[in-house]
Amino acid sequence: MPLPRYYNAKDAPDTGASFVAIKARGRARTKEEMDIPTILAIESSCDDTSAAVLRGDRILSNVIASQKVHEQYGGVVPELASRAHQQNIVPVVDAAIRNAGIAKQQINAVAFTRGPGLLGSLMVGVSFAKSFAQALSIPIIEVNHLQAHVLSHFIKENDLSPVPQFPFICLLVSGGHTQILLLRSHFEFEVLGQTIDDAAGEAIDKAAKIMDLGYPGGPVIDRLAKEGNPDAFHFATPSIPGNDYSFSGIKTSFLYFLRDRLAEDPAFIETHKSDLCASIQQCIIGFLVKKLEKAVKETGVRQVAIAGGVSANSLLRSQVQLMGQRRRLQVFIPPFQFCTDNAAMVGIAGYFKYLRQDFADISLPPYAR
Ligand code: ADP
Ligand code: MG
Repeated sequence: MPLPRYYNAKDAPDTGASFVAIKARGRARTKEEMDIPTILAIESSCDDTSAAVLRGDRILSNVIASQKVHEQYGGVVPELASRAHQQNIVPVVDAAIRNAGIAKQQINAVAFTRGPGLLGSLMVGVSFAKSFAQALSIPIIEVNHLQAHVLSHFIKENDLSPVPQFPFICLLVSGGHTQILLLRSHFEFEVLGQTIDDAAGEAIDKAAKIMDLGYPGGPVIDRLAKEGNPDAFHFATPSIPGNDYSFSGIKTSFLYFLRDRLAEDPAFIETHKSDLCASIQQCIIGFLVKKLEKAVKETGVRQVAIAGGVSANSLLRSQVQLMGQRRRLQVFIPPFQFCTDNAAMVGIAGYFKYLRQDFADISLPPYAR
């Protein structure tokens, strides 16, 4: 018998099953649960399997299993990523619930990353979230991964955790995205600028790959750059109009520069590694901050945040702090555990959706883009 060709359950032939009914069947919730729900969150969009528990906007646990298997290939191998998620998901969720010190029955909803990301990886998290929620008769909440990165600033680790006020500007910089966003509310934003080609994280990873520094290259470049001279070499940044970015030219000029130097001295990378890291880092981060500052100036917004994997970069963190001092802005730099992919950020996005009773249908498929 040929396999069914439908993908979205809504397009499936009618089997008599009612998907909507499952959503509606959840037990009645108390007033306190409506106001301060306990949410289990799951993130599996790329190569980190993560689960977190939040009570309201307070984080109770955040467990991340990073996949080492990709290092030997110099990048994420999608098939291996989904297999590793499959292995990790149960122990990671179990650890998150245990670390939170709660019982499964106390969970009011399951939030999960629906996309964007690797489809095979997303499917593991999405399927697990649905099954878990269905077993407990609780609703599910779909979360957009990028929105989660931005909303990570609202996670409270304690009563004193500062959160941004609207409107604020957020520079979202990850392995796949580079955008300057103007946030008007939790779910309303305007894109002020974005990359027209590679993402900043991608450019950093490619530079690291050219120097044979392994994957992901960002943390290695950050570490080696601390011992190098950022003015040793200069790589021009392209003049792109408005608040947009472009990183592919920087990568090419880095590649050609090294090709010429290596022709004269085959040991050039080895003997200049930290200077090369410091210089390329300064070029990319300097460009990021320059456009961010332009957007801040133009909008007159007084609060600025950074989010996404590249926001773990020490130069970006210090440069944004300095910009804040220079322009008397309030600056929000995420704690390291919320920079790269994590489920706590999915949980906080899920919490805001829970407050709006914005639940998803059990038939919902993941999306890659
Ligand atoms: P995505 O969600 O697009 O997969 P992440 O948000 O997980 O990406 O971020 C991963 C990216 O962050 C990678 O490109 C990685 O090199 C980069 N990164 C992580 N830590 C640092 C750092 N300290 N400095 C620069 N880049 C970093
Ligand atoms: Mg990410």
